[in-house]
Amino acid sequence: MTLAGIPTNEAAGNADARRAALEQIATEVRACTRCRLAQTRTHAVPGEGNPDTEVVFVGEGPGQTEDQQGRPFVGRAGDLLVKLISTLGWRRNEVFITNIVKCRPPGNRDPEPDEIAACVPYLRRQLEVLDPAVVVTLGRFSMAHFRPGERITQIHGTAVTAPPETGARDALAYALYHPAAALRSTEVERQSYDDIAGLPRVLREARSRRTGVGAGASPAPLPATDPDPDTIDEPGDDAPTLFQAEA
Ligand code: SF4
Repeated sequence: MTLAGIPTNEAAGNADARRAALEQIATEVRACTRCRLAQTRTHAVPGEGNPDTEVVFVGEGPGQTEDQQGRPFVGRAGDLLVKLISTLGWRRNEVFITNIVKCRPPGNRDPEPDEIAACVPYLRRQLEVLDPAVVVTLGRFSMAHFRPGERITQIHGTAVTAPPETGARDALAYALYHPAAALRSTEVERQSYDDIAGLPRVLREARSRRTGVGAGASPAPLPATDPDPDTIDEPGDDAPTLFQAEA
């Protein structure tokens, strides 16, 4: 099963070219000193996933486990994100997962505006390479980047056109709560399962909007909607992923 399948992703080049471009960005991120977060990080966390994917998840920033491993969403919040994704029959290595800031804010504090401003050019370049159909924002900082002026409590589970200047030139931005918030509130967790269930519909809508993938075309099939426990992808799963922490 694959989530990839947009056949007209020519502007971003072929899979090998996308992979190489993403690796180049990841290399730059790992060496980056553009903001103060470079001084306190253990590892920068560029992001990882399938270079052919149609869906990119964007969180806030790495936490402690992510900082230690150099991979996004591998702590408890990551476990929940993987469970949410798995309810769609998808695996984490079929999407791309990254953050607004690529280095951990000390003590998991909120990222500062100047840190976000310094780092988002990397996200923009990643999105330009990936050219996703859907950007899933996780939490309010990611939401604020793609849907400024809105409130997560009011717009979670809804999609709007992503601003092209974010690098997502032809995508819908779909808002979810951050999984860490869901870990703190059973109500937010319940809502998160409801919201993720709407993602296949948003993907279908996004496909129909994209040039060359109109409603009259034959879009790639959606992944099965039946949850499959075997597809839950835990950290350490030997399924191939990109841009893992340098040894
Ligand atoms: S957070 Fe972003 S801009 Fe700041 S040092 Fe890390 S990679 Fe560079």
